[in-house]
Amino acid sequence: MSDGPRIFLLGSTGSIGCNAIEVAEHLRRDGVGEFPIAALGIGSNIDLLAEQEARTGAAFVSIASTERASQYRGDATVYTGPDGAAEMVRRHARSGDILIAAVVGSAGIDAVMAGIERGCRIALANKETLVAAGSLVMPAARAAGVDVLPVDSEHSAIFQCLHGDPPRAVERIVLTASGGPFRGRSREDIAAATIDEALAHPTWTMGRKITIDSATLANKALEIIEAHWLFGLPAERIDAIVHPQSIIHGFVEFVDGSVLAQAGPPDMRTPIQLALTWPERTAASGRQMCWEDLRSLEFSPIDHEAFPMIGLAWDAIREGGTSGTVLNASNEAAVEAFLDGRIRFGDIFTLVAGACKAIRSTKVGTMEDVRVADYAARQWIAEQLPSVVAQE
Ligand code: NDP
Ligand code: MG
Repeated sequence: MSDGPRIFLLGSTGSIGCNAIEVAEHLRRDGVGEFPIAALGIGSNIDLLAEQEARTGAAFVSIASTERASQYRGDATVYTGPDGAAEMVRRHARSGDILIAAVVGSAGIDAVMAGIERGCRIALANKETLVAAGSLVMPAARAAGVDVLPVDSEHSAIFQCLHGDPPRAVERIVLTASGGPFRGRSREDIAAATIDEALAHPTWTMGRKITIDSATLANKALEIIEAHWLFGLPAERIDAIVHPQSIIHGFVEFVDGSVLAQAGPPDMRTPIQLALTWPERTAASGRQMCWEDLRSLEFSPIDHEAFPMIGLAWDAIREGGTSGTVLNASNEAAVEAFLDGRIRFGDIFTLVAGACKAIRSTKVGTMEDVRVADYAARQWIAEQLPSVVAQE
């Protein structure tokens, strides 16, 4: 048994999860460390989980779908239901282990909190956790003395450029956005875009929910709130810019006028690996820069008229309380309705903006406050759906 950190990989069957297994195997092959994967957590894809259990030798698995869990045949100890992952972490993780949070949506919050309680380093891809519950997660991590290391490429970029500089040294940070498949189009033009059109991301291959978020730019809105919690900056000092090549992932503009940028090919294995090995840097598992192919790096301002989601993020940061929770949960529910073919692309923003306006922000004292606001936002969207569907 290795003395190094063990990995608890939650969301193992997703795009980030599969990349994380590759990165761990690469680090082991390279002799960086063992990085044993002790646990795997999923929603319902038990076929891939069985393959992953055999491949990694994980001793524990969690399956959120109780129905699918009853059909699982593996050797690992199984934890089931929506609380299964958090329970598994609470029982088996120990101080110094690494929890890779790669579940999609606010379903991932409790397991992250459990990891923090157990003293795990958190390698955070699951941005919804910070958007919905950053005011509880970050203080808990500070109190427990655990690092929350960003896996999201833009935040990994900012983290690297900051290099420990305090917020007062920073004038502002700028996250880059590819612009998604509808870059340059008008709001009217994309209002009735199809699911396939919205899923055709130009530079990144990712799960369905984040791909739709990239098309509406809700992803950048969520990332602005994520940056607020990770780096302790107010809304006015977090901006975004369109950069179609996705080579530069973020900029930090310091108070002295100096600007640092972090660059690299769009490959999530790079930020995943850094979150596992930090503060060390080790040989790449992801793609490396191909300078011969590089011709130009383009930038343009966000078209807030066509893509108004980011305004909601700035408002949510200023308002505080449960407003991030409501923005996140209403967006999750609206994206699900779009992917189910129930609403049009343009309805996603209308619904999310409606929920943010209709549901009053309340103070966040405990995780229960987050759960109540999350539920209220989903309910609000569910109540609006029949009238939105009827208009179409
Ligand atoms: P995927 O949809 O590809 O994977 C999601 C994972 O979460 C799957 O393992 C899925 O299991 C699991 N899951 C879904 N619902 C639940 C649930 N209720 N309880 C427990 N597990 C669940 O998403 P991605 O990998 O693309 O994204 C994961 C997170 O990382 C998101 O928060 C995203 O915003 C963030 N991220 C992703 C990037 C990317 O390049 N993909 C880049 C930056 C951030 P199952 O397969 O069984 O459904
Ligand atoms: Mg990102």
